[in-house]
Parts: sequence; structure tokens; C-alpha cells
Amino acid sequence: MMISSKVADRLNLQIKYEYYSYWLYQQMVFVLETMGYTVFAKWFTAQAAEEQTHALKIAKYLLDQGYEVKLMALEEPPANWKTVEEIVQAALDHEIEVTKNISECVDYAIEAKDHATNNFLKWFVDEQVEEVATAKELLSLVQMAKTPDQILLLENRIMELRAPQGGE
Ligand code: MG
Repeated sequence: MMISSKVADRLNLQIKYEYYSYWLYQQMVFVLETMGYTVFAKWFTAQAAEEQTHALKIAKYLLDQGYEVKLMALEEPPANWKTVEEIVQAALDHEIEVTKNISECVDYAIEAKDHATNNFLKWFVDEQVEEVATAKELLSLVQMAKTPDQILLLENRIMELRAPQGGE
């Protein structure tokens, strides 16, 4: 084994968190569809898809390092948001939480003097800076829009925000 089982177990747990992110964003998609905000629903559909790639990226790394991947049970995501702003705020809060999760993985790697895993996690560290910044910008846009019509007018800007991210 090239990495310690402690580090491997923590990465396996991170796979669960990434799938939970998928689960949460997909639930947001369904609520947004119900509210009639199809552009926001598209945004979170892309967001949810990204989370699956994050989970798979970690799974591939574990397999490459000779570890088995074990999927864990996911908690039920909330679904009781009443407004787009509540949803975007929840997404921002969630990304801040994920940033802490990723930092914890890095702590494990550093403690184990595991340079390969530390290096692997750098992509995730950078990704989280991007995710939090984008969620903050989306939230401030949504907060500027005071009526449902104004929220719909934001759609061009929202799709611009999505575009440069590249699909990962
Ligand atoms: Mg993620």
C-alpha cells in the first residue's frame, strides 16, 4: 500500500461527502423546477454533475493506490427551501462546509507525510476556492433581485458565471 489506511479511510469518507453534495444539489434542482426557475435548475444540474466527477476522481485515486472503494449511506437532504435566495445561501453554506472537509483531508495527508495525497488534494483545494467565490457571487446577484421577475432577468449573467468553469 502506498498510502496509509487512515488517509485512505478519510478519502473514502470524502467520496460520501461529494456524493452528498450531488444529492443536495439534485434536490435543489427539483425544488427549483417546482418553483419554475429553470435557469437556476440548469445551474444546479451542472453543479450536481460536477460533484459526481469529484467523487469519481477520489475513487479513482484510491483504486490507483491499491485501496478498495466503499460507498456509504447518504443522509436525506433538506427540501424545504422557500425562495431561490434560501437555496443559494444553502449552497454557499454547503461549499464552506466542503472546504473544511477538504482541508481536513489535507491535514490527514500532511500528518502522514503523504506527499502523493497532499498533491492530489491540491486540485480540490483550488476547486473549493472557486466554488465558494462563485456561490458568493451568485448569492449577491440573487439578493439584488427583489422580485421573481428580476430573478428571471439574471439568467444571462448566471449562465456566464457557469461557462468559464469548464465542466469539472
Ligand atoms: Mg465537490
